[in-house]
Amino acid sequence: MASKSRQLHIVFLPQLAHGILIPTVDMARLCARHGVKVTIATTPLNAHLFAKTIQRDRESGFEISTYIIKFPSAEVGLPEGCENASSLTSQEMQTKFLKAANLFQQPLEQLLAELRPDCLVAGMMFTWATDVASKFGIPRLVFHGTSCFSISILDSVIRHAPYKKIATDFEFFDVPGLPDQIKMTKMQLPDFIKEEEGSERRKMLNEALESERTSFGVIVNSFYELEPAYREHYSKVMGKKAWQVGPVSLCNKDSEDKAERGNVASIDRHECLRWLASKKPNSVLYICFGSLSRFSAAQLNEMAKGLEASGQNFIWVVRKVNDEDKEEWLPEGFEERMEGKGLIIRGWAPQVLILDHDAVGGFMTHCGWNSTLESITAGVPMVTWPLQAEQFFNEKLIVDVLKIGVCTGAKEWSRWADDTKIIVTSEDIERAVTQLMVGEEGEKMRNRTRELKDMARRVVEEGGSSYSDLNALLDELRLNCLPK
Ligand code: UDP
Repeated sequence: MASKSRQLHIVFLPQLAHGILIPTVDMARLCARHGVKVTIATTPLNAHLFAKTIQRDRESGFEISTYIIKFPSAEVGLPEGCENASSLTSQEMQTKFLKAANLFQQPLEQLLAELRPDCLVAGMMFTWATDVASKFGIPRLVFHGTSCFSISILDSVIRHAPYKKIATDFEFFDVPGLPDQIKMTKMQLPDFIKEEEGSERRKMLNEALESERTSFGVIVNSFYELEPAYREHYSKVMGKKAWQVGPVSLCNKDSEDKAERGNVASIDRHECLRWLASKKPNSVLYICFGSLSRFSAAQLNEMAKGLEASGQNFIWVVRKVNDEDKEEWLPEGFEERMEGKGLIIRGWAPQVLILDHDAVGGFMTHCGWNSTLESITAGVPMVTWPLQAEQFFNEKLIVDVLKIGVCTGAKEWSRWADDTKIIVTSEDIERAVTQLMVGEEGEKMRNRTRELKDMARRVVEEGGSSYSDLNALLDELRLNCLPK
C-alpha cells in the first residue's frame, strides 16, 4: 500500500502593518483550507488582532496556529505596545521600527529549527528572510501587499529614474517600458525612491529587492484578469514567478469574519448593518483612509464641509493626527445637521462588511491596495485620494487603466501628516463625490466595477485563475519540498 504523503507545512512571517498582516492571514487561512499545515509567526499584539478568527478556523478543523515572537521594543527604544506600523507617528519611530524587524532574524531561526517547516512566506521588510530560509534548506516566497501593476511601476522608476530628467516637481513624465502609457510627477513618487543610492532607506530597499530576486517567487493579492499585461510584464522584466491568488478577502464568508477582520470594530456590526439597511441602494459614500493615515484637524474640517455640500449619505471613518484633540475639527452643528444622513466611525470600521452592502455606491479611499481590491471585489467605484506608499501608482490603475474612479486631485506624496495642512479643498471633495455618486459618468463606472466584481468572485472558485494559481503554487511546493 502506498504511504500517505506528508503534509506540507508553511510558516508565514507577515509584515507588522495591517495592510500586509490582514491579507497574509487571509492567505494563510486559504492555504489551510487547501490541506496545508500553517503557522503564523508574529508578535503578541499583532497575534491578538486575528486570534478569534484563527480560533474559529481551528474549531472548523483546519491546521492553523500562531507562533509568538516577542517584539524588541526596549532594545530599539520604542514604547511598549508599539508593535504595528499604525502606532508610528514620525520618521524617527519608523527607523527604530525597521531596526526591530531586523532583530526578528534570530527568533525566526529558532522557530525554523524547532518546527522544521517546508517553506517560509515573508513580507518584504524582512530583507534577510531568503538567506535565513536557504540556511534551513527551504524556499522563501515573498507575499506582496500590492499588485503586479504597482510592482512594475516601482521597478521601472528605480531602473530608469525618469524623474531625474524632469526639471520641476509637478511636470508629468512617462514611466518607461510599461504596457500602458502611465504618466507621473516627481511629487507623486515615494520619497525613499528619490534619495541617493547610499542612503539608509535606499540601501534597505535594494536589500529587499535583492532578497525578492533570489527568492522562490512572489505571491500577489490580485487576479490575472484584472491586470493581465502586468502579470506578464512582471515575469518578463523581473524574471520571477508570480502567483496571483486574490482577492484573498473573499475567504471571509460570514459576517462575523468580515466584521472582525484585522481588528475589533469600533461599531457594533448589527448597528452598522441596520443603518445601511435604512438607505437606498448605491446611495451611501464610504470614506476610509486605511490603517496608517491620519489627517490634521484643518483637513478634517475641510472634508466635513465638502461632504455636507455634496448632499450625499456617508459613513466616515475618522483618524486624527492627534488623538487627544477635542472634536473641534467638526464644523459647528455638523453632527446635528447630518443626523440620519452621515455616520461617523471613530477608530476601526468593519470595512469589508460595509463595502459588501448594497447601499454603498462609492468609496473615498487613499488607494491602499487592500482597500482598492476590496472595493473592486464589492463592485464599488472610487473617489481617489492617495497619500503615501504606492498609493499614487494604484490611483493610476483605478482612474486611467480600469476607469473606475474619480480623482480628488491630491498631488503630493507624504508619509507623515502635517498638523495644519489642507491637501484637498472642500470644493474638490464636493466635485469628485458628486461626479461619482450622481449622474451618468458615475453610473458607467459603477457598471464597469460590477463587471470586475463578478470576475473577482469567479476567479477564486474552482476552475478560476486565482484558485488554479494557488493550487499550482502548492503543487510546486509539494513537489520541491516534500520527500519523494
Ligand atoms: N481596514 C478596516 N477598517 C478600518 C481601516 C482599515 O477593516 O477602519 C482594513 C481594510 O479593509 C484593509 C486594510 O485594513 O484590508 C488596510 O489596507 P490598505 O492596503 O487599504 O491600506 P493601509 O492601511 O496599508 O494604508
